[in-house]
Amino acid sequence: MRTPKLSRILATLAAVTLTALGAVAVNPAPASAAVRNVCYNTSQAGPFASYAVQAASIWNNYTNNINMAQCGSNLMIYYTYGGGSYAQRTSLGNGRVVIDYYQAQQYSPLRIMTHEIGHILGLPDNYNGNCAILMSGGSAGTSCTNPYPSSTEAARVDSLFGFAARSATPAQIFSDSWPAATVVAAGR
Ligand SMILES: [Zn+2]
Repeated sequence: MRTPKLSRILATLAAVTLTALGAVAVNPAPASAAVRNVCYNTSQAGPFASYAVQAASIWNNYTNNINMAQCGSNLMIYYTYGGGSYAQRTSLGNGRVVIDYYQAQQYSPLRIMTHEIGHILGLPDNYNGNCAILMSGGSAGTSCTNPYPSSTEAARVDSLFGFAARSATPAQIFSDSWPAATVVAAGR
């Protein structure tokens, strides 16, 4: 089926605009393509860089509509000492994750990382104490090391990364409930 010329031009303009805004990298592909690149950057992640890579791999394996790769800085990974891990989502697939070093000594660092990235991918907290739920976070206790999203959580991410729903995911900061043993004043 032929694509009208005007549509092609508009699609190109849209892709250029998204790239200029620092949005998820857009490959020259049909507008119907579902997979979205989420470019993460571990240059500031210190000892948690490898966990970010593992978490990205988990999200890639559990979803169909996203592809996390070290292709840019749409998602910056940081770490800090005290103050709590958190995710700051500026828009779907964009923002930053900050891992609290002390929390990561109590709780599974991979679970924290995958959880915080889950916020960037559009998921809210769900503190129900269920270790099988990734977004239950610290409510599942220090013994919970599950780093995998439930099928429901993964499906939600896939749904959000569908084209129509992207703009409906608001900017939000998630200060997370991974209680730290020692709360140290930290630059938040
Ligand atoms: Zn959270």
